[in-house]
Amino acid sequence: MCLKRVDIQGFKSFGDRIKLELHSGLSVVVGPNGSGKSNISDAISWCLGEQRASSLRGSRMEDVIFAGSDKRKAVGMAEVTLTLDNTAKLFSLPYGEIAVTRRLYRSGESEYLINKVPCRLKDIQALFMDTGLGRGAYSLIGQGKVDEILSSRPEERRHIIEEAAGIVKYRHRKEEALRK
Ligand code: ATP
Ligand code: MG
Repeated sequence: MCLKRVDIQGFKSFGDRIKLELHSGLSVVVGPNGSGKSNISDAISWCLGEQRASSLRGSRMEDVIFAGSDKRKAVGMAEVTLTLDNTAKLFSLPYGEIAVTRRLYRSGESEYLINKVPCRLKDIQALFMDTGLGRGAYSLIGQGKVDEILSSRPEERRHIIEEAAGIVKYRHRKEEALRK
């Protein structure tokens, strides 16, 4: 699995549309303090379905929308698209490439799309479940995360192991079936 491209528009410090092309192997983001490096990883977790503003270093979700700068006016919508390679069929969708989009308007309205087709947040979460990419999964290791994992409660640590083993979706389906 490989993240091929990240398109960001109106998210945090990115008032203009930016496109990041990632190639196989290691990619490194460098830049002065405050230039937006962490905003890129925030954009990725947000598009993967992050729902807690605090995990994105904000107090309300609206804080992710570009609030304006000396050179540019604020915008009304934040949009992030992640383009993932699916030639190895990690995702159970019949496409070689999967583009996941999340939008948020100042009105509070949200939109989620998979390959430009509107879907629910639930569909995005289901898509990433057991891939190691979903919210709180191990593919994004932030500052302090290693310590957090080591000092977490056994049940929390078990979740990370279950995600890596690929059994979270079965646990989820079982819980859903038991609720019905
Ligand atoms: P460091 O090297 O200190 O970790 P960084 O490159 O990771 O810095 P970020 O934290 O990604 O920097 O970016 C911080 C900048 O993003 C700040 O200048 C902040 O004003 C700007 N920023 C955050 N949210 C918004 C927003 N909604 N609108 C406009 N600018 C924003
Ligand atoms: Mg940073």
